[in-house]
Amino acid sequence: MPSIHDSVTVLSGVGEKRAEALRKMGIYRVSDLLYHFPRGYQSRGTTVSLAEAGIRGDEGLPSSVMLTVAENARASRLKGRMTLVKVRAVETDFPDSTASAELVFFNQAYLSDRLRIGQNIRVWGKFRKDGRRYTTSSPILEFYTERRSLIPITPVYPLTAGITQNYISKLIGEALTCSDINTCDVIPKSVREKFDLAPIGDSFRCIHLPKTPEEAENAGRRFAFERIFVTAAALTSTGSRRPDKGAANMGFVPLDAFLSALPFTLTGCQARAVDDISRDLASIRPMKRMISGDVGSGKTAVAAAAAYICAAAGYTAAMMVPTEILANQHYADMAPLFSSLGMNVALLTGSTPKKEKARIIDGLAGRGDRIDFVIGTHALLSEGVKFEKLGLVITDEQHRFGVMQRAALENKGGYVHTLVMSATPIPRTLTLVMYGDLDVSILDELPPGRIPVSTFAVDESYRQRLNGFIKKQAEEGHQTYVVCPAVEEKPSENPEEMADLFCDNERALPMKAAVDFADELSDALPDVRIGFVHGKMKNADRDKVMTAFAAGELDVLVSTTVIEVGVNVPSATLMVVENAERFGLSQLHQLRGRVGRGTAKSYCILVSDSKSPKAKQRLDTMCKNRSGFKIAEEDLRQRGPGDFFAVGGIIKQSGAGGSVYSAVTADPRIIEAASASAREIVSADPLLTSPEYRLLRKKVEELTGEYENIIN
Ligand code: ADP
Ligand code: MG
Repeated sequence: MPSIHDSVTVLSGVGEKRAEALRKMGIYRVSDLLYHFPRGYQSRGTTVSLAEAGIRGDEGLPSSVMLTVAENARASRLKGRMTLVKVRAVETDFPDSTASAELVFFNQAYLSDRLRIGQNIRVWGKFRKDGRRYTTSSPILEFYTERRSLIPITPVYPLTAGITQNYISKLIGEALTCSDINTCDVIPKSVREKFDLAPIGDSFRCIHLPKTPEEAENAGRRFAFERIFVTAAALTSTGSRRPDKGAANMGFVPLDAFLSALPFTLTGCQARAVDDISRDLASIRPMKRMISGDVGSGKTAVAAAAAYICAAAGYTAAMMVPTEILANQHYADMAPLFSSLGMNVALLTGSTPKKEKARIIDGLAGRGDRIDFVIGTHALLSEGVKFEKLGLVITDEQHRFGVMQRAALENKGGYVHTLVMSATPIPRTLTLVMYGDLDVSILDELPPGRIPVSTFAVDESYRQRLNGFIKKQAEEGHQTYVVCPAVEEKPSENPEEMADLFCDNERALPMKAAVDFADELSDALPDVRIGFVHGKMKNADRDKVMTAFAAGELDVLVSTTVIEVGVNVPSATLMVVENAERFGLSQLHQLRGRVGRGTAKSYCILVSDSKSPKAKQRLDTMCKNRSGFKIAEEDLRQRGPGDFFAVGGIIKQSGAGGSVYSAVTADPRIIEAASASAREIVSADPLLTSPEYRLLRKKVEELTGEYENIIN
């Protein structure tokens, strides 16, 4: 019997190659496997008739059907090296049914041997009625002789190349047999008892092999509690050990020149945030501050003030943003402002020409023209970039970066002041857990004169009217963004991939591809000037289109979410989101924030044909709420903290990967209870010396070790 402490290589069928693939997912030991949680579940135990499967298929939903092979499989070759296997099967449970199904498989030639007449299979796939037949393409098969051997609820795991669902399920099944499975609980007994948490072994079994959805959900809650508890304990203990010197004291820098160069007056909360920052920067204690603010609340101006203070004090400020478009835009906005103040701003991205790049690198290293403020993408992290006098690191849209990347930039300056700008407001309950060691300035008020954006959710039947509306905006001189979830539509032929798609059936809806959509729209609206951008375009091409749109030379910009972050075009008044069901609440809120930035009335139209109640609820939340803080709280309520955590960096590195929490409705009360009890324990026993905390201490040391390696 394996032990949870063993290397995964003790399990059957794990050779060096597979072990390497597992390591890529952060799985080294058997216990890591236990913490590799499903990203969702398929209820294959609930089987339906073909007729019902067809109806569900029309709604984009997959079904589970018991079938018996009626004719031997037929294999044929398609162009290229592709093989096609087709097999006809009838309903096992309804011998009188005249319905039959045709199952189609690509590149799974081996199936033609296994699919013999009379073979019983449980088939999971999306069925379509096609004449008198039902068809399904690349379904998932389970062969059975005795039905009891089939599990009712099938976990779907995050995968990596070389690791299949079946393989990882088998390994996890083996890991669940560890005799010492109950000895790895980091939650102390007293806490477990206080909150009535199940023993960890049972919880592992329930999260991996639930007999009912409730079992999975309860186990999910338990692990959510654990994750928050451990993280809060780690952050509380690092927070108290955060270095209290080593950064540059920038002293008192008067802001009058900066403020009068700004084209507007700061809002009250912006001014307060700037005050907070001024105070932080006038100390050798490294600032660690986050600006948490709604879209459009003016975080950039606050960041600019921080950069100004830093530059005026004789240090270089660096600002890292997740996309080139955003870097360009920040540069275009801020370079004139700073040059009018006699300061030198540089832009460093992947497409900065070599010569210019060399000049900037020299400037930053103190060898050439001094650079006061550098704005850039990941390019700022490249090896060659060294700073002579880095004083402040700002990261915008911080959720796009992991703790690792942020820290890599901070590293370049020894102890530096850091300012992070959240892309979305973070619910108050989570800030403490995720950013226990950060101070927070909140921007909860929008600049004056904004008219609220009206939001509507519509389905395909509104297409004509929607096109008419886009045309009307163009005629009035206003602009429209259309956001599509994908660049180009590719039918998936990989059954594993299909499995993942089915996991969240919302994803099974066909995706609007940005390029195709732009074509369609051009056909429908010949008089409207339409451009498109997507993430796979050459930067120069993309920038050309973006610039044209910003300059009003295009009426409509069709794009993938490359515009999600930060872009600012005040004359845009309409945001159309296609396949809105595929976006999370905070993403939608972020997208909506692209309009309503000027003086004209703006609209956000969410287009979705999804029948999923969850998706409908999300869209409804968008229509009813304006405040990003409110929406973030709602997101937390509807999906759990998984999505917030997945981007929080440190937690992900704890090895507790997977996103099952998003399948669990996490109760903010769990978050509060778990973090409060962790803080209570750490403050009573800061070094966690009590024997009861032995495992917790180990875990916290592991986490803070990682954390400090990153930070220092
Ligand atoms: P976000 O917080 O989403 O990053 P931005 O910093 O891009 O928001 O600001 C959104 C818009 O509001 C920009 O056009 C900016 O110039 C404008 N803005 C920011 N602060 C003010 C203010 N105090 N008064 C008027 N307009 C402002
Ligand atoms: Mg911004």
